[in-house]
Amino acid sequence: MRVADYFLNYVKINTQSDPNSKTYPSTSSQLEFGKLLQKQLQDLGFSVSIDNFGYVISRIPASVSSQVPNVALIAHMDTSPDASGDQIKPRIVYDYDGKDIILNAEKGILLSPQVFPNLLANVGHDLIVTDGQTLLGADDKAGVAEIMALAEFISENPTYPHGDIILVFTPDEEVGNGTLYLDPSQLSADFGYTLDGEAAGEISFENFNAAEATVTIIGASVHPGSAKNKMVNAISLAYEFDQYLPRFARPEITEKYEGFNHLYNIEGRVEKTTLSYIIRNHDPLLFEKQKTDFLSASAFLNRKYGKNTCDLVITDSYYNMKEKLEDHQEVIDIAIDAITEIGLAPIIEPIRGGTDGARLTYQGLPCPNLGTGGHNYHGPFEYASIQEMEQSLEILKIIIRKIARQ
Ligand SMILES: [Zn+2]
Repeated sequence: MRVADYFLNYVKINTQSDPNSKTYPSTSSQLEFGKLLQKQLQDLGFSVSIDNFGYVISRIPASVSSQVPNVALIAHMDTSPDASGDQIKPRIVYDYDGKDIILNAEKGILLSPQVFPNLLANVGHDLIVTDGQTLLGADDKAGVAEIMALAEFISENPTYPHGDIILVFTPDEEVGNGTLYLDPSQLSADFGYTLDGEAAGEISFENFNAAEATVTIIGASVHPGSAKNKMVNAISLAYEFDQYLPRFARPEITEKYEGFNHLYNIEGRVEKTTLSYIIRNHDPLLFEKQKTDFLSASAFLNRKYGKNTCDLVITDSYYNMKEKLEDHQEVIDIAIDAITEIGLAPIIEPIRGGTDGARLTYQGLPCPNLGTGGHNYHGPFEYASIQEMEQSLEILKIIIRKIARQ
């Protein structure tokens, strides 16, 4: 099958993860999808395991006899819970002409290059789009489809040079738990690549340093009619706390390498108000500085209103894999050479988020992220270019060949 055939079959299966679920994986449909992948890999002649958490792992033995590094290729099976993923009706727009694409005539939903100028890089491509009602699921079924098409290619070309390849399909990436029960040391891989980026030819090896801050402010509730000099309104103090943070470090006005503090939830009454923030920066020193701003604001409120007014808990979530990948430049170079070899200019972009690869890198498996040909993730404007998916597959073939010839 071609990559697009795998892809079109996979997106019809709703594998959205659920942030409120108490189970792992968070939805049973991911397990079902994992079993389908297991069956398809077995039919190609490879041994595959699927555990109770839903991790699908297959080891393709080397075709070369010399000792070469083992590489893991990783994609996630779930799709985002941010938009509906139910009853996805993919449609192919052949030979895209660069104009607006009508996703849904009845509801007047357009996929327009005026809003998404990245579409203009896909003129002449065959694009898989939605009906405007659901996401597409190219994040990350494009990555899954490319790995499966690679497995099929290896099965049909047994003499094609490659070392051991470990295929890994993970659940629950979109709810932040993609590697929760995955021990990379058990993969016996020397390094890996996640296939979870956007444009073909993209390679990312820098992501945010990330922390979560929870600010709890304790007030004193008194009947408002007799509150003078007695009431302490935790809601007002929470607002004051937020005012002490830098005005311009917010997601809605930052881009590229600019860090931010993002206030994403407030729950409060007069007696007690809790603020939830995420803290993000690529630069480890600026990341620490942002945390210091939180400490200063908290200390100031405690001096001003009494020492137990403000409680601050900061927990680090993940770190920039760049610091670790600097010692493994060859992993990045192999991918850049492969991208160049098929005639694309490598797109090197810092990720304004994290990846499973970032966590795995810190657990000892160097793991940059590659593009897959999907675009505009997590909503109804998501689309995938069939030509870019095929290019991404070609890049994978060259990567495994280059590793075997090292
Ligand atoms: Zn993804």
